Amino acid sequence: MSRIAFIGLGNMGSPMAQNLLKAGHDLVVFDLVPAAVNVLTSAGAQGAASARECVRDAEVVISMLPASRHVEGLYLGEEGLLAALPAGTLVIECSTIAPESARKVAAAAREAGIRMIDAPVSGGTGGAAAGTLTFIVGGDTADLDAARPLLEKMGRNIFHAGESGAGQVAKICNNMLLGILMAGTSEALALGVANGLDPKVLSDIIAKSSGRNWATELYNPWPGVMPDVPASKGYAGGFGVDLMLKDLGLAAEAALHSGSSTPLGELARNLYSLHSAGGHGGLDFSSIVKLYEKKR
Ligand code: NAD
Repeated sequence: MSRIAFIGLGNMGSPMAQNLLKAGHDLVVFDLVPAAVNVLTSAGAQGAASARECVRDAEVVISMLPASRHVEGLYLGEEGLLAALPAGTLVIECSTIAPESARKVAAAAREAGIRMIDAPVSGGTGGAAAGTLTFIVGGDTADLDAARPLLEKMGRNIFHAGESGAGQVAKICNNMLLGILMAGTSEALALGVANGLDPKVLSDIIAKSSGRNWATELYNPWPGVMPDVPASKGYAGGFGVDLMLKDLGLAAEAALHSGSSTPLGELARNLYSLHSAGGHGGLDFSSIVKLYEKKR
C-alpha cells in the first residue's frame, strides 16, 4: 500500500488522516501545531518535524490547509515541496483555495513532472469523521483515477468538475450557497423564537417543509436543538467563521472576474464579516445566529 504524507491536521485534516490510518495505510504526518501531530501519532501515524521530512519517501502527498497563501507557501518556491518531490508523485490538495492559486500550483507541479489534483471537500467535520465527505475534483482523469482508492477511504461521493481549478470553482459556488442558507436559517429560527416558538419544534417543522436544507437537517445553528453539532458545544470546532468569510471572499472575487452578480453572496459576506469583527472569527460559522439574538 502507498506510503502517504499528510500535511495539515486541523478540524478536517485530523479525522481524514485517521480514516486512512484505520484503512491500514502507512501515514507520515505534519502540522505546524505539534499537539495536532501528537493526536495522530497516538493513533499509529509516524510524526515528522517538517513538511520536507514528512514527504521523504512518500508516493502520495495529501494537504488540508486553511487558504491559498498556505498552499502556495507549502508547494512553491525554492523551499517549497515541489522542488523536493520526485517526478511521478501524486499530490491531492484538499484545501479550499482560489481557483487561480490551484491552477498556478498545478501548473508548477506539471512542469516538475508531479501529478496534482485539487480536491476540496464538502460535508463538514461530521462528514470527515464518518468518512462520508464529498470530493470535488479538478485535474486530469488519470490522476483522479489514481487518487480514487484513497478518496474512497475518506469520502462517499467523488465528482470530477473539470480541469485544474474547476474543483475549487464548484466548491466556492457550494459554499456561497451554504453561507447564505445558514444565515437564512438563523434568521428564520430567530424570528420564530422572538414570536414565541420553541426552536426545536420550529426546526422539526422546517426540516419536513419547503424550507428544509442542510442546516435544518444536519447542522442546526440554534444551541440545544441537535446533539453533537457545534451549536450545542459552544460553537467550538466545526467550520470557522473566518474560513467561511474566506470562501465568501473567493466567491466575490470569482464574481468580479466573470462579471457575475451575486447580491445574496455579498450580503452573506458582509454578515460574516460583521460577525468576525465582533470577535467571533474562531467560532463555528453556525454562530452567525448570534447576530440575530435579541439583547434584552
Ligand atoms: P483548521 O484551521 O482547523 O486546520 C488547518 C491546519 O493547517 C491547522 O492545524 C494549521 O496548523 C495547519 N497548517 C497551516 N499551515 C501549515 C503548514 N504550512 N504546514 C503544516 N500545517 C499547516 O482548518 P479546517 O477546518 O481543517 O479547514 C481546512 C480547509 O478545509 C480550509 O481550506 C477550509 O476552508 C476547508 N473546509 C473546512 C470544512 C470544515 O467544516 N471545517 C469543511 C470543508 C472544507
